[in-house]
Amino acid sequence: MECFECKGEATIKYQWPWGEVSGACDEHLTLVQTRAGQLGCALVFLPLGAVAGDEAPDTPSRAEQVNWKEAYNELYDRLLKTEQELERMREAATTVSKAEEQIQSAARSRNKGPRQ
Ligand SMILES: [Zn+2]
Repeated sequence: MECFECKGEATIKYQWPWGEVSGACDEHLTLVQTRAGQLGCALVFLPLGAVAGDEAPDTPSRAEQVNWKEAYNELYDRLLKTEQELERMREAATTVSKAEEQIQSAARSRNKGPRQ
């Protein structure tokens, strides 16, 4: 299975709520999670398995189920951290744009000064 983004070797397979199944490498998994977060939907993570058995629905063992759950929890944690990071960036962007406004209004009031 290849990564949906870079076409490299996928390390994880996931399914969207509408049934679309894709693969992602470690690097682009964050991208998938971010998209899922933006769409407000939960992804189902599937085992990569052998390429030949990719389409065959086989019953997962108990150990595999636990692994998925752990992987899911780990990914969910990463998603939350990404969202927090995004929120910090939004706050920083707001601070910057407020500062820009102040600079611009200061520049405007200087232009309206006694020299004109
Ligand atoms: Zn990739």
